[in-house]
Amino acid sequence: MVAAVCISQTSYCCVFLLIQLQKEVPTDKMPKKTTKNSFYFFMVDFKEQQRKKGINYANMNEVGSAAGPVWEAAPPAVRAKFEAIAKKEKQKYNIPECKYTSQGVSLAQIDREAEELQRAIEDEQKDIKNMVTKKGLDCPALDLHIFVMDVNCYCKASRDYVVGETALMQFNIRNGIQEAYHTIINPGNIPIGYASDVKYGSVELGLDMPDESKERTDYISVLANTIDYLKKNIDKNDRIPALFTMPDKVAPLTNFLQQMCRRAGEDDTIFRVYQLDRLFYTMVNFVRLSEDAGFPKESLALNQLKKDPFKYNPGLACQHHEVNDKAVECCLSRVRRWAYTFLDTACPAAGIVALPGKHLPADFDIEQTQIFQEQKKTRLPPSVWREPNSCDASPNTSFNLPVEPSTSKVVKRVHVPLRRPKSNFPDPSCAEVPELTDLDFPHLSRVSRGPANVENTFNKLNINE
Ligand SMILES: [Zn+2]
Repeated sequence: MVAAVCISQTSYCCVFLLIQLQKEVPTDKMPKKTTKNSFYFFMVDFKEQQRKKGINYANMNEVGSAAGPVWEAAPPAVRAKFEAIAKKEKQKYNIPECKYTSQGVSLAQIDREAEELQRAIEDEQKDIKNMVTKKGLDCPALDLHIFVMDVNCYCKASRDYVVGETALMQFNIRNGIQEAYHTIINPGNIPIGYASDVKYGSVELGLDMPDESKERTDYISVLANTIDYLKKNIDKNDRIPALFTMPDKVAPLTNFLQQMCRRAGEDDTIFRVYQLDRLFYTMVNFVRLSEDAGFPKESLALNQLKKDPFKYNPGLACQHHEVNDKAVECCLSRVRRWAYTFLDTACPAAGIVALPGKHLPADFDIEQTQIFQEQKKTRLPPSVWREPNSCDASPNTSFNLPVEPSTSKVVKRVHVPLRRPKSNFPDPSCAEVPELTDLDFPHLSRVSRGPANVENTFNKLNINE
């Protein structure tokens, strides 16, 4: 009876919820499908053409107003070209546009985004490969200027990340790391509703809380310094080199660059932000001298970077972070550690001697590492049990004393099941434990604690004397 009531109540709830949902999400209020028409593709093309001429637009509305009259006056051949693109695009995503997720995003949109992401990854891999295998030079990969950049963000507000610190550093395999550009940023006013997030971020990253009384950091000068640093070793005709960072930092770094470009009225497409692990994988596999070196998989390059072997090396952080206990969270320390980890693998693979202070931290004990590497080469595989007579040396317990592999026949170990111990103790050395009496546990009145012995303790101390 109770069960029946429960079931009827549940079904009633379901029906009620369904009615509510139908009421709350009327079909006319669902998001409208967004199909890109021929004019859209014309606008994209128009924007690109104007950009080449040096004319930039703030948004697509501005592009639309400028492109409208041109589109109206366009000859039929031009119109037909963009109509064909629009038609092709529509056929490509031939998924019902009217299907939506529970959050109102169309399935076609999700598919489009996934495809765009995949295309971006492929373009990135292609671009990195071109950088590493640049033709025309003997071995350009060893001299390729690699720029790593990091940002520390207090939190992500509704639109932008609240940035507190940034560092940019250049290195290459032949010459090691160069001097970095680093700055602490005062983001000024904390966005409304994000004070606790900013507070939490400041504790986690070892940064001071944004000082609202002081003037905020001039993003235009930070952008100018960043571009100057990037252009230092580049020919005037070359485009700005790509910036590399860890996968989890791609989004905040891209957003930080966009924020700076927005304030300075620059075009943010001049920056390319790529994943450092992709470059690491491609580079090491390109410069390696033997097949044993390098990474068989891209994920292993990322694992190596995540291991962060130089994490606790002193003296890598900025002045601000060196005095508090959050030196590992410093941007400057992080870009240096990424470079050292990169070079620690890439230099031996390319046959270049890694020098402390250049390719490795200044206090790095390179001799011990070399000894370890040599021992690793001569170390035997895990030993198997051999007959005592066939062993001509002590067991190979330490790799300090490498033992020549024995030529004698190795006998396989036979598994013997464990036996239960006998109960009559025939061995005299293994006698039965005697039974214990009260004499074995004497009363320890003098040293015991508690109120009962207070008198004794006082007597012992001779307070009356
Ligand atoms: Zn720092």
